[in-house]
Formats: sequence, structure tokens, C-alpha cells
Amino acid sequence: MNLEGGVPLARFTTLGTGGPARALARPESLDELHEALRWAAEHDAGVAAVGLGSNLLVADEGVDALALKLGGELAKVEVDDELVRAGGGAANAVVLHRVRDAGLGGFEFACAIPGTTGGGVWMNAGAYGGDFAHLLERALVVDLEGARWLTPSELGLRYRHSELRHGQVVAEVELRLVPRPAEEIKATVAELQAQRKAAQPTNKRTFGSVFKNPDHELSAGRMLEACGLLGFQIGGAQISPRHANFIENAGGGTSADAVALMSEARRRAWEQYGVELEHEVEFLGELELDPLQR
Ligand SMILES: Cc1cc2nc3c(=O)[nH]c(=O)nc-3n(C[C@H](O)[C@H](O)[C@H](O)COP(=O)(O)OP(=O)(O)OC[C@H]3O[C@@H](n4cnc5c(N)ncnc54)[C@H](O)[C@@H]3O)c2cc1C
Repeated sequence: MNLEGGVPLARFTTLGTGGPARALARPESLDELHEALRWAAEHDAGVAAVGLGSNLLVADEGVDALALKLGGELAKVEVDDELVRAGGGAANAVVLHRVRDAGLGGFEFACAIPGTTGGGVWMNAGAYGGDFAHLLERALVVDLEGARWLTPSELGLRYRHSELRHGQVVAEVELRLVPRPAEEIKATVAELQAQRKAAQPTNKRTFGSVFKNPDHELSAGRMLEACGLLGFQIGGAQISPRHANFIENAGGGTSADAVALMSEARRRAWEQYGVELEHEVEFLGELELDPLQR
């Protein structure tokens, strides 16, 4: 297994920001994954799996960890009757394509989620009423101790949350789907994509929703819009003029710019609504939002 140094993680994040990890490994089998985890332990480095970087904000200075990009066997997709086995590094788009061709439905919601199955399990990604928790039979989680199959309840899956921690890598998932004609799946996907296009920025560099929806009558997006944040910009990062719960890289943006925008958004939501917004995007490295003035 080769280790690469100095590779900016910006290359692997949809926002296009972030400095290098201490090292980058691309394991292609369970053996290589175990080897990478042992290397990290021996070198006292943290471990961070990176999927398609679509929910990731990486510190501009980089992160003192071994970054893992799963490939090969760890990104394969196999359909076995109504059960789908996908590597944790498999892109949702590839899985969706395979299951559609196999006439299996239930994964259509993932057409809106530009990540991998591993990233999907990590935060129980979901859209349009579907999420990973509803389909997942079990996930193979690998850490220094070995490999274990865990069910959704053992993973602690709930709204945009799991109990997984860095150092635990989702190497494979098993999803239980239901028979559905490919034409119907295609039609649903087209409809969901049209809804997405009408409501959210597309063809922009973003990391999806910035904040989780609070327990409030307003969604995070509507709340930030009411705080006057549509189009608000700091440095090269801008709150989307289309949807206030998205941050776009307007050109030359850094993770620090995005964090400054997030701090400002959180401050305004707190002052106007008394709501403490919780970020949905995952932070890697030394990144912190400003504390709220209580
Ligand atoms: C335009 C856009 C729209 C989006 N819409 C949605 C949406 O509708 N619903 C939604 O839920 N999300 C949405 N997202 C966010 C994002 O796509 C999801 O959170 C996705 O599941 C992240 O997967 P990823 O592979 O890109 O993970 P990454 O962003 O690479 O990583 C996210 C976290 O998962 C961990 N991780 C990744 N792979 C593994 C693995 N194999 N094992 C263990 N941990 C892992 C990482 O360490 C990190 O902590 C959107 C993002 C974009 C850019």
C-alpha cells in the first residue's frame, strides 16, 4: 500500500477547500485497510475516511491524520436478489444505476445525495422521506480491533446522525431493496432531480446543507433567509442567493471563509430566534465556530 504526502484534500471536497492530511492512503481491500489503520496507530495519527467530500469542511492548514480513500474491492457493487452489497467507497450514483438496471427500488432518494455509501451511513444521509437507516440491513465497520457487522440500531442511526467515530471505517454495506420497474425508478429520479433544481443551487461548489433543521417551525434555510443572509459573502464564500442553508465557493473561497460565514449565520439565528443551530457539515482538522454570546 502506497502512502501519499502533501495532497491537498481540497481535491476531494465538493467545496474545493482544505489543506493536506499527514498522509493519504487508497486501500482497495480489507487487508490494505487493516494495514493502513495499523500504520496510523504506529505513527500516532488520527484516521479520517474521505468519501466524495460532499459533506466535508477541511481546515485550510490541513489535518494531522491519515486520510483514507476507499477503492477497488471497497468500492464495488453487487446485486444479489433483493440485497445490494456495496463497498463503503461506492458512489451512491453508481449504486443507484446498478439497482435501477436490476429493477430494484427504494434507493431513489439517494439521487439527491452526491456521496458514497460510507458517508451516507456516517450521517444517515437522507432526502425526500428516505434515508440509509430505512434500507440498511447491516454495515461492516472496520477499526484497529478488527471488523464487525453492525445493524442500524447498533450504529445509532437517527436524523443525520450515527455513533461512528473517526477511526471506524464503513468498508461495506448491505441494503435491502424492493422490486420496482426500471422505468418507474427513472421517472421518480427525474422528478426528484427537477424538484432539487427548482429549490437549491446546482452547478455550484457547495457541501450540501450547512445546518441541521432545528426543532422550530422554520427550517434552517428559511430562518437564515429571514435573518437577511441570502447572498451574504465573506471572502470567497457566499451564502447561496437561492437557498440560505447552502454555502457556495464563489471563487477562491477558503474553509476559514466558510467557517466565518457559518459563525455569522449562527449568531444571527441565536439573536433573532433564540435557536442554536447545529452544523450538519463535518469538520476535519482545527475548525471551530465562534461561541454564542449568551
Ligand atoms: C449538492 C449537495 C446536495 C446534498 N444533499 C443532501 C441531501 O439531500 N441529504 C443528505 O443527507 N445529504 C446531502 N448532502 C451532503 C452529502 O452528500 C451527504 O452527507 C453524503 O452522505 C456525504 O457522503 P460523502 O461520501 O461525500 O462523505 P464525505 O463528505 O467524504 O465525509 C462525510 C463524513 O463521513 C465520513 N465518512 C466518509 N466515508 C466514510 C466511510 N467509508 N467510513 C466511515 N466514515 C466515512 C467522513 O470521515 C466524514 O466525517 C448534499 C451535498 C451536496 C454537495
